[in-house]
Amino acid sequence: MASSNMKIQNENASVETKKTPKSSKNHSYDIDWIKNTNAKSFLPDQQHSLKKPVTDQGCQKRLSKYNGLVNRMSPEEVDEELRKRQLSTSGEIEIRRLRLKHHYKAQLMLGHENPFKMIQQHFEYIAVVDFEATCDNNQRNNYPHEIIEFPIVLINVQQQMIVDKFQSYCRPTLNPILSEFCTELTGIEQHQVDNAPTFPDVLRNVEAWLNERNLLSSHKRKCGFATDGPWDFAKFLRIQCRFNSIPYPRWAKKWINVRKEFSSFYSVQRCGITKMLKSLGLVFDGRHHSGLDDSVNIARIALELMKDGCILLLNDGVRASDPKFIDLNITGGDETKDLEEDEAKLDDNDDDDLYVSNE
Ligand code: AMP
Ligand code: MG
Repeated sequence: MASSNMKIQNENASVETKKTPKSSKNHSYDIDWIKNTNAKSFLPDQQHSLKKPVTDQGCQKRLSKYNGLVNRMSPEEVDEELRKRQLSTSGEIEIRRLRLKHHYKAQLMLGHENPFKMIQQHFEYIAVVDFEATCDNNQRNNYPHEIIEFPIVLINVQQQMIVDKFQSYCRPTLNPILSEFCTELTGIEQHQVDNAPTFPDVLRNVEAWLNERNLLSSHKRKCGFATDGPWDFAKFLRIQCRFNSIPYPRWAKKWINVRKEFSSFYSVQRCGITKMLKSLGLVFDGRHHSGLDDSVNIARIALELMKDGCILLLNDGVRASDPKFIDLNITGGDETKDLEEDEAKLDDNDDDDLYVSNE
């Protein structure tokens, strides 16, 4: 099993996130919008086409082959290989197999120009969402937020870039007139929401858009949703679905909490988008509190995390035992049981601030 002398090509790739486009339409659902506006900078251009995939497929294949070999070895063969490498032969056979597999993986990584490329990401796509909602400057905890912007920025994990996006404004019905404060904060103007569909229609359009791209497929590794913190899904979406008496979408039951992952991966305090970018040597691109621009910047952070070897997994979700979620009518499946099981895996460390700070 000679793995240390493997010849591995340098496929070092760097991601450069381009200037954020401004939305030119009130709501738009397809990729043509991107092609027709300056958002085309998200699509592969000459420079992007020079980029190489985030993972090294050749090495991944080799690793799978080694894993297969180890699985087929007899316990005696496993021990012989372990002894050759001066590794312990104690413990149950499955542990010994894993020990050998980890050793092969480490050897492969050591011989690799960019070991992070050996890391297999969990999802094929990551869809970043950042809602904007009605608000007021002197509001309290119980302000009846309604979602007024629903953006999605889609990352192709293998290509390591933003490949698509969706944006729609939503017409609020409880407080149809936006406060001056809200317009100033989000940049969303009255006419934009006046001409937009209401949230249930927007959600239907979102799901149609996702389905067109096969992103809601039952294949669990196809697409994971990501947000900055727990608030977008656990607060805004939950309140909105309850207000509209529509089921809470199954796909938003668990998500990648980028803020939480950033803090644990780099061992830093949880902080907002601007600070996360700053610590990565980047600056916020676009307008703060624009849902689409916030999403693009969260996507940039997610891309940097993956480039640094972080595997983005679902690390946050709605909790069955949380009284706030008891009346959630989640679409499809035995969701309550699922939630109870998953809940044990989520840590309870989320700060529950009223507002997410971008700082
Ligand atoms: P963000 O994703 O940080 O842009 O915030 C999402 C939503 O939270 C905004 O659209 C507002 O409804 C609300 N929000 C954020 N910051 C504030 C704030 N300082 N005061 C009142 N509402 C806020
Ligand atoms: Mg935002």
